[in-house]
Amino acid sequence: MVGGLYKNMRQNLDFWRDNVHINDNVLYMSQEFGVVKVVSCLSTCVFPDKTTYPIDETMMHNGAPHESNYGYAYAKRMIDVHNRACFQQYGLRYTAVIPTNIFGPHDNFNIEDCHVMPGLVHKTYLAKKEGKPLQVWGSGRALRQFIYSVDLARLFVWVLREYDEVEPIIGSVGEEDELTIKDAVDAVVEGFGFKGEVIYDTSKSDGQIKKTASNAKLRKYLPDFKFTPFIAAVKETCDWLAANYDIVRK
Ligand code: GDP
Repeated sequence: MVGGLYKNMRQNLDFWRDNVHINDNVLYMSQEFGVVKVVSCLSTCVFPDKTTYPIDETMMHNGAPHESNYGYAYAKRMIDVHNRACFQQYGLRYTAVIPTNIFGPHDNFNIEDCHVMPGLVHKTYLAKKEGKPLQVWGSGRALRQFIYSVDLARLFVWVLREYDEVEPIIGSVGEEDELTIKDAVDAVVEGFGFKGEVIYDTSKSDGQIKKTASNAKLRKYLPDFKFTPFIAAVKETCDWLAANYDIVRK
């Protein structure tokens, strides 16, 4: 069960309970039915709020997560506990990928509940259509590493086939590709050719100001992996939403 910052802030209990149940159901049944490999999806929200940067895979359990999404973060950390115990007791190589902020076609574009990129894409589409200002939530100063869902899907297939560790692996662009939310807004505005006013609503939370993650482990395995350039990926996402508006999840 996933959602953006604001849904997490409203529903920490649901995020904790639903995800703990999903974890145990999927991983225990996999073990019972002899599933050879499971690749679970975590998130960089699992990492401690007070930490040194860049964050890497070894730091997951080093301190409390950010207060905005502790229900989700603690539930997702328990996948790592489950995987390690499963290996220790039964030799099963279940593992997890820790992606940074994902976006792309076929996302959940429900403005109240979704992550920042689908939220911005949907809001900009509507602002342009209705001739209204674009409302961005927060100051735009928070930093995020964005990964295109198409690139992440390729990494998941590689993890399923080739990656043999139980320890999780971060799926992210490099630290040098970290952007501000304002950079993301500018890319979406450009993607739609939106000419209207852009308003930053600073009464709304910025969430964690940054969670800069290292992709050194990924790069050690896949030094030549090519990420889709951010601007091109954003444009594809904007075009997809516009072409499929009737059927998008919203
Ligand atoms: P996070 O990366 O886990 O914090 O989750 P999000 O994908 O929801 O990103 C939250 C960041 O994007 C915060 O800094 C918000 O202030 C900012 N943001 C700006 N506009 C929006 C929006 O329309 N929706 C969401 N979810 N976040 C927004």
